[in-house]
Amino acid sequence: MTKVLELTKEQLNRMKDFYRDDLKDNDNEHVYFAVKSCPIMAYNSGKVVFQGPKGLNEYNMWIEIFDMVDDIIKKDIIYYSPSIGSDEVGKGDYFGPLVVCACYVNKHAMDKVRDLRISDSKKRTDDRIRKLAKEIKDDVTYSLLVLSNEKYNDLVNKGFSVTKMMSILHNKAITNLVDKLNYKGDIYIDQFAEPGVYFNYVKQEPKVTRNVHFTTKAESKHSSVAVASILARYKYLLEMDRLSDEIGFTLPKGAGDIVDQTIAKIITEHGIEKLKTISKFSFANTEKAKKYLT
Ligand code: MN
Repeated sequence: MTKVLELTKEQLNRMKDFYRDDLKDNDNEHVYFAVKSCPIMAYNSGKVVFQGPKGLNEYNMWIEIFDMVDDIIKKDIIYYSPSIGSDEVGKGDYFGPLVVCACYVNKHAMDKVRDLRISDSKKRTDDRIRKLAKEIKDDVTYSLLVLSNEKYNDLVNKGFSVTKMMSILHNKAITNLVDKLNYKGDIYIDQFAEPGVYFNYVKQEPKVTRNVHFTTKAESKHSSVAVASILARYKYLLEMDRLSDEIGFTLPKGAGDIVDQTIAKIITEHGIEKLKTISKFSFANTEKAKKYLT
């Protein structure tokens, strides 16, 4: 276990003074001092490295003395701070809509978010998503937008890129929520485009929310994005249930070979016009499915 502190010269000297009877001989020009009885190494840069259980003890003492916050705790504080987050689902799935959710998690809902261990994203099966969404949806405020396959295909024909559609939907969902709550706090988008690209795509919109942070892997950094992601995924699953009922069998997610086989089956049983109402028709899968048509 290694812990690192970044200290000022003053703090470094205070620490050196504390260990003055316990210093190692040092001939490394980058090392400011090293402690004899414990694996602590202080560098001229201000970096101090603590190692092992003994080092951890000393590290804990020093963050208390200097009134610092441990990085892991800092991350945790940020993760559970109230904010608006937005995320989308379905952009890589041939079947089913594109769903975008913006979600505000307030202080009140945070205890529940903690209890549900929402940050634990690796174990999220579809069943877990359904469970989590039902547990949390009444405790948070959200705006959920569903772009149907008909609309999606229509926009593709009009020359829209998926990134443009997503930009418009994210802005709309966020703006809905900001207006509804008269919100002034932090807003995080799980980044899917450069800010310049995003704002260029939304410039024609009636209302644009400008003070948004674009964050990569935002789900693991802000609980609001994690909850938005869960609610979007849940809505997508419900839509897939509905479309599967319509078709008479379970539609696969994703865009793999099983999707190509399913496309062929749908064309044979329902015709290509029906396919257009449940799919992102411009995906390469439509072409690839031809080899399964007899
Ligand atoms: Mn995302």
